[in-house]
Amino acid sequence: MAEAFDVIVIGGGPAGYPAAIRAGQNKLSVACIDQWRNPDGGYAFGGTCLNAGCIPSKALLESSELVHRAREEFALHGIKTGPVSVDLAQMQKRKSGIVKASTQGINALFKASGVTGLAGHGRLLPGRRVEFTGADGSKRELSAKHVILASGSVPVELKAAPFKAPHILDSWGALELDAVPKRLGVIGAGVIGLELGSVWRRLGSEVTVLEALPEFLAIADQQLAKEAARHFKKQGLDIRLGARVSAAKVSGDVVEVTYEDAKGTQSLTVDRLIVAAGRRAFTAELLAAGTGVELDERGCIKVDEHCRTGAEGVWAVGDCVRGPMLAHKSKEEGVMVADLIAGRYGEVNYKTIPSVIYTAPEIAWVGLTEEQVKASGRPYKVGVFPFLASGRARAMEQAQGFAKLIAAQDDDEILGVHIIGPMAGELIAEAVLAMEYCASSEDLQRTIHAHPTLSEAVHEAALAADKRAIDSINR
Ligand code: FAD
Ligand code: AMP
Repeated sequence: MAEAFDVIVIGGGPAGYPAAIRAGQNKLSVACIDQWRNPDGGYAFGGTCLNAGCIPSKALLESSELVHRAREEFALHGIKTGPVSVDLAQMQKRKSGIVKASTQGINALFKASGVTGLAGHGRLLPGRRVEFTGADGSKRELSAKHVILASGSVPVELKAAPFKAPHILDSWGALELDAVPKRLGVIGAGVIGLELGSVWRRLGSEVTVLEALPEFLAIADQQLAKEAARHFKKQGLDIRLGARVSAAKVSGDVVEVTYEDAKGTQSLTVDRLIVAAGRRAFTAELLAAGTGVELDERGCIKVDEHCRTGAEGVWAVGDCVRGPMLAHKSKEEGVMVADLIAGRYGEVNYKTIPSVIYTAPEIAWVGLTEEQVKASGRPYKVGVFPFLASGRARAMEQAQGFAKLIAAQDDDEILGVHIIGPMAGELIAEAVLAMEYCASSEDLQRTIHAHPTLSEAVHEAALAADKRAIDSINR
């Protein structure tokens, strides 16, 4: 007899583990299977995000930003230090400690909500049965009333630049470097490429980012993108747009990169090359024949707006389905499905998923860009507040960037908020909440913001949309 559960979750990343916890909270019997193995051979829950993505990258971004500030800003504050040097081994040790604490935390959360964590491989069989292969290779069959697929994503490998450690690295490899490369190449000026490029630039690498698209940060509001490009250039990131990599070859201890741009074929020699050219849904060895679960043309598991696959009782959430590949989107989908299974209310508002790039200055947005609003034809108004006019930002020595709010001319609905500046990733939460509650720009204008805080920038941007800003000149 197959071991039976109410719910089996395959994948224990930010989509799968919250789904399992919520199912447990809903008093359902639940097992969560994950095959992730770290370089020490140990199994860990948490998926890409905790082990090789969000968390380790933010740990290194924080450390490297502190190096930069110690070198460039301490003197301004009147703090004298000797020459600042980097102990990369300690920096990496700190990062690994944070990752370990985060992933071990999931085991504790599973215990508290009654989730059975299973380390190994899961494969969906027809009829909501799951073949589980344990660490020792032994197989057993499980069955469930509902199966949630949360198998995540993996980095895209380019034919032109196949991964070849230690020279041509994916994003995980780029987080594990044990020496600062003198010359570092990055393929892709997306979120991951910019964050990783920033880490190693601040630690001393000469960083060249090659981006095939002619436009910088095409997904972002272009006023924001232009401001970001200016800051990255000042920081010494050499971002080359319209530069499509056509070949990368390891030669001795260097990588010879060939790329095509408007002028023709170009070459670049670097010591290490990071390929950050996107991610793709991961479904290898996940689906046996006859499950009824289908993939779309991009290899994502096909689901409806409530993450139901075509197979009765089988759901799919997170990076392995359509939509932005983000941890918080994954989490909300996982929680929604676990609630729907329990007969509770569940919904994801795909219009209010925030995006954050954890560079310095930080970049964050929610809703429509000005370009998208313009294209929609709906009359709109824009308010921009520069952090230069924020007392708190000046006191922090971080008076860079701006907060921008776009609202509808007719009913004052907030359509988008775009922030580049200190703690933008935290500030955007207010805009997300406002949009979730269908707030108007006037609602934000009438909300009291503590002084002096960075959040006043969002308040003033809302005021500026009606040319009523107090702390900056209305244009
Ligand atoms: P994953 O995290 O990939 O987890 C899937 C899990 O399923 C894995 O543990 C895998 O081992 C397991 N699995 C797959 N198949 C099977 C199987 N058959 N049997 C058993 N287990 C299986 N997002 C953000 O929102 N913010 C950030 O700051 C951010 N930073 C990032 C930085 C980097 C460098 C990278 C690479 C990504 C970053 N992301 C960030 C993206 C984020 O990591 C993903 O969106 C998120 O991890 C997706 O969660 P998931 O659970 O769908 O997939
Ligand atoms: P993202 O999908 O946000 O992670 O960003 C990945 C980026 O890599 C995109 O902006 C792509 O345009 C870029 N990219 C993909 N392939 C290449 C290539 N061969 N050369 C340069 N850039 C690339």
